[in-house]
Amino acid sequence: MARGTTPRQPSRSGRQDAVRAALLAKPKSPPSRSMARRVSPAAAVRTKSAVAKKKSASGYDALNPERVRQIIAGLDQMYPKATCALTHRNAWELLVATILSAQCTDVVVNTVTPVIFEKYPAPQDFAALRPEQLEPDIRSTGFFRNKSKSVVGAARKVVSEFGGKVPDTMEELLTIPGVARKTANVVLGTWFKKNVGVVVDTHVTRISRRLELTRNENAQKIEQDLMQIIPQERWTDFSHEVIWHGRKLCIARKPKCMDCGIEKLCHAADKTWSTVEIHKPAKAG
Ligand code: SF4
Repeated sequence: MARGTTPRQPSRSGRQDAVRAALLAKPKSPPSRSMARRVSPAAAVRTKSAVAKKKSASGYDALNPERVRQIIAGLDQMYPKATCALTHRNAWELLVATILSAQCTDVVVNTVTPVIFEKYPAPQDFAALRPEQLEPDIRSTGFFRNKSKSVVGAARKVVSEFGGKVPDTMEELLTIPGVARKTANVVLGTWFKKNVGVVVDTHVTRISRRLELTRNENAQKIEQDLMQIIPQERWTDFSHEVIWHGRKLCIARKPKCMDCGIEKLCHAADKTWSTVEIHKPAKAG
């Protein structure tokens, strides 16, 4: 016996014996949620990516370049003309429309933007407004108070720092109020034709997870995962095609798998119809 170890006394209730017997009888169970929480976030991310990259016992590799190529080819075939659905005539209009599109459909945004650009044709016109003045015009897009502040703030920044022109680098775009990577990627990819990143919105998140191209839920991590497996020259097209796929077929509830051109490559657990085996972790979220 090791020094300092006190022998355990048998419990009067016999509970210890029962626990010991159960431990001997049961195979080791997976860690409980509380145990999982003790894993550091960094370790959890490492584990997630390791799992995503790892081949399954059957040799299946979701990130196999040939599989990814087939997914891209399938999307190309289904959505050959996919582009940004937000109506715009210049980078400024696209920037504003993208800010307004948060938590809102493009159809609603497209009814609002012609009216506001008629009233306020240039960034200087928006910059001269108080946010409250813009609120009634964009109310139907939701979160209108925050969006008004973002649009007016963006206009002031574009006018004061960039001479009234929307900048064409990620670094500069990210200094504009209301602009995060998603909006910057839309403007850079769609207007400036620069593949600087992948647009990760709700559709890209859901479909990338269903297709096992990522296991992450955080938009920035999903973007990093996709940038590693999608050829850079396809980043913008891929984003547009996946967004279209998310609108047309791969909808959140009850995706239309029977009509899907990449059905054979998809093992999503929440498919509505399948000719291939289902992978339990492959699901929208
Ligand atoms: S098969 Fe279904 S779930 Fe998979 S990508 Fe197509 S529509 Fe989405």
